[in-house]
Amino acid sequence: MANDASTVFDLVILGGGSGGYAAALRAAQLGLDVALVEKNKLGGTCLHQGCIPTKALLHAGEIADQARESEQFGVKATFEGIDIAAVHKYKDDVVSGLYKGLQGLVASRKVTYIEGEGRLSSPTSIDVNGQRLQGRHVLLATGSVPRSLPGLTIDGNRIISSDHALVLDRVPQSAIILGGGVIGVEFASAWKSFGTDVTIVEGLPHLVPVEDENSSKLLERAFRKRGIKFNLGTFFQSAEYTGDGVKVTLADGKTFEAEVLLVAIGRGPVSQNIGYEEQGVAMDRGYVLVDEYMRTNVPTISAVGDLVPTLQLAHVGFAEGILVAERLAGLKAVPIDYDGVPRVTYCHPEVASMGISEAKAKEVYGADKVVTLKYNLAGNGKSKILKTSGEVKLVQVRDGAVVGIHMVGDRMGEQVGEAQLIYNWEALPAEVAQLIHAHPTQSEALGEAHLALAGKPLHSHD
Ligand SMILES: Cc1cc2nc3c(=O)[nH]c(=O)nc-3n(C[C@H](O)[C@H](O)[C@H](O)COP(=O)(O)OP(=O)(O)OC[C@H]3O[C@@H](n4cnc5c(N)ncnc54)[C@H](O)[C@@H]3O)c2cc1C
Repeated sequence: MANDASTVFDLVILGGGSGGYAAALRAAQLGLDVALVEKNKLGGTCLHQGCIPTKALLHAGEIADQARESEQFGVKATFEGIDIAAVHKYKDDVVSGLYKGLQGLVASRKVTYIEGEGRLSSPTSIDVNGQRLQGRHVLLATGSVPRSLPGLTIDGNRIISSDHALVLDRVPQSAIILGGGVIGVEFASAWKSFGTDVTIVEGLPHLVPVEDENSSKLLERAFRKRGIKFNLGTFFQSAEYTGDGVKVTLADGKTFEAEVLLVAIGRGPVSQNIGYEEQGVAMDRGYVLVDEYMRTNVPTISAVGDLVPTLQLAHVGFAEGILVAERLAGLKAVPIDYDGVPRVTYCHPEVASMGISEAKAKEVYGADKVVTLKYNLAGNGKSKILKTSGEVKLVQVRDGAVVGIHMVGDRMGEQVGEAQLIYNWEALPAEVAQLIHAHPTQSEALGEAHLALAGKPLHSHD
């Protein structure tokens, strides 16, 4: 093993996804000497197999729906079909443009970028391509990969993961989606827009089960209207190939058949056989354990992103990576309030949330201390123009701050920026009610909800 002891980096990072590259960029900006090791493509899951390509598919689906529904708006357009090769080209062009930009950014910040599969070889080094990279500190950011269930093999043929679904060379006639979480409902939405007959199978009682129950119910109603089928509350038992598709059997004996089965039951950490155990890094079910400053039990090693048991979101990875960089550069690092992280599911209609659910608020503050308010988008001009329906639901601690904001409706994901200011600045309803919202926008729905909670509803009944 070549060991160039003359170069000791301030920080050596394993994994160039959202968490790893954000740490690299911020650390370099703060004057640290940084090496970044990536075995695949800079940008990781989010850029190449996650956030960006899925949202491009969803946008293509939205255009298909608009073409189909154009007559409702007095526009004569004909929907002829999906040219999936052209959809992929559009999606890939978006990804490759961003990829190029990111590569330029990393180079311009003078980060030493090394392509290759790395391994933690000591508490202060990563081995890659027969070379030992020494660092005063090491950051583990190896992310996650799609998970499966015992006895269910994702073969990339008819039983596929989101990675395969993103490059599928056809629009399936029919699909079963195992898992009604974020990834499952986003693919259900895009495929339905493309013309697939979709059935979601979710073991828990609701779609998007980590959201406030009201949002789940609104999404279920909207999906039902769109003809997206779902079976809730019964767990998967087995899957087998049929002559030309896949048959799924649930624990209660019910069966479903379709051309493909998309397994979207979650993602597991990438932490095995890359030296973590050997170096004594504490883990739980494969997740690297960290404190609120992203420090592992080994003083010279930190970890961020999907590898650690926090929310699996790109912007969480960014924030955790930045936190580590700032801490190592000697700046004051502030622990992340994970309830204060915005969450958006980009299906049609969108689901967006901030803070905590009504159920959680009742647990934390007591049922008699929690006040809720629902503002129906039927009263919002812009939503009416878009022909979307949904609600903004607020959860308030009686006479105190708004601790939960839960929104459903097309484009409501764009409102999460204001929602996060309200939550993170612990705004009182009366304070938000003072803010004037532009008319007609969907942001008015947030303003109106707070007017109502402050006791002075405008476009809603007392
Ligand atoms: C279909 C899908 C849609 C998603 N949509 C969204 C969304 O809309 N919004 C959102 O916020 N999040 C979304 N996510 C989640 C988001 O992609 C992840 O939270 C984010 O990518 C995690 O970043 P990370 O840096 O922890 O891991 P990753 O992005 O997985 O990066 C880890 C990197 O480490 C590299 N690596 C692993 N092992 C080694 C090794 N031994 N040597 C060298 N390199 C190694 C990998 O190649 C990879 O590039 C989505 C995910 C999926 C799958």
